[in-house]
Amino acid sequence: MKIAVLVKLVPDSEAQIKLNADKSWIETRDISWVMGPYDEYAIEEALKTAGDKGGEVTVISYGDEQAVDGLRKALAMGVHNAVRVKREGEQDLLGTANALAEALKDNGYDLIFTGFKANDDDCAAIGTMVGTLLDIPVITEVSKLEVGEGNVRAERDIEGGREIIEASMPCVITAQKGLNEPRYASLKGIMMAKKKQIEEVVVTHTESRIEMAGLNYPPERAAGKVVGEGAEAVPELVRLLREEAKVIE
Ligand SMILES: Cc1cc2nc3c(=O)[nH]c(=O)nc-3n(C[C@H](O)[C@H](O)[C@H](O)COP(=O)(O)OP(=O)(O)OC[C@H]3O[C@@H](n4cnc5c(N)ncnc54)[C@H](O)[C@@H]3O)c2cc1C
Repeated sequence: MKIAVLVKLVPDSEAQIKLNADKSWIETRDISWVMGPYDEYAIEEALKTAGDKGGEVTVISYGDEQAVDGLRKALAMGVHNAVRVKREGEQDLLGTANALAEALKDNGYDLIFTGFKANDDDCAAIGTMVGTLLDIPVITEVSKLEVGEGNVRAERDIEGGREIIEASMPCVITAQKGLNEPRYASLKGIMMAKKKQIEEVVVTHTESRIEMAGLNYPPERAAGKVVGEGAEAVPELVRLLREEAKVIE
C-alpha cells in the first residue's frame, strides 16, 4: 500500500509572533517551527496502517527550507520517504492545494493523510481541496479509522453522536485528535533521519486567487484594576461588574 502524509511546519506556540514591515505577513526569521499537532496524528495513523497492511509512507511538505525540519522529524518517527515541494513566492490556499495535488498525482497513493487543520492559519481546508483537485473521496476530522481491502470505514465526532462513513480508496483522510497516540521519535530514528535523503520537487501549478489585504495585532487590552484583597473586596467587585462593566444584573 502506498501512503502519503502532508505536513506543514507551524510556529511554536511559545513563539513571539511579529508582523513584517508592511504588515503583509509574519516575520518568519527568529521563530522556532514545529510540526502541526494534527499532522502528528496523521503520521501515526499512516505508520500504523503501513505496519498492519504492509506498504510505504511518504511524507510531503510544501514550503521553504524550514519544511526540511518537519520532514526530518517525520523520518525520525519512522516514515520511509520524504519530499519537499519547493515553495517560491506567496501562495494562498488554492496555490498550496494545487502544488500539493500536482506533487501527489500520478504517484499511485492509496491513502493520503493530512492534519484536519494547521494550527497557525487554521483554514482546515487543504485536505478537502487536495482531494477535490485529485477527484477522490475526502473524509474530514476522522477520530477512528479501519482500512479494509480497497475501502475505509471512518468515524467522526459530531454534536451529540458519531458519524460512520465508508469510502473507496484512494481517498484523503484528515486527522482529528483522538485518532491515535502519536509515537515519539527514537534516538536511533533521529540519527537515521539525519542521514536520509530528502527529495526535492518543483511544481508549476500554483495558481492563487486571493491577496492578503493586511494583518493586524489584536486590540491592546486595557490595564486591569485592583479593587482590594480577600472577601472585603467582593462587594466593590460586584458593584463594578454591575455598574461599570455591566456584565451582571
Ligand atoms: C495571499 C496569501 C499569501 C500567502 N503566502 C504564504 C507564504 O508566502 N508562505 C506561507 O508559508 N504561507 C503563505 N500563505 C498561507 C498559506 O496559503 C496557508 O498556510 C495554506 O493555504 C494552508 O492553510 P492552512 O495553513 O490554514 O492549512 P489547513 O488547511 O488548516 O491545513 C490542513 C492540513 O493540510 C496540510 N497542509 C497545509 N499546508 C501544507 C503545506 N504547505 N505542505 C504540506 N501540507 C500542508 C497539513 O496536513 C495540515 O495539517 C499565504 C496565504 C495567503 C492568503
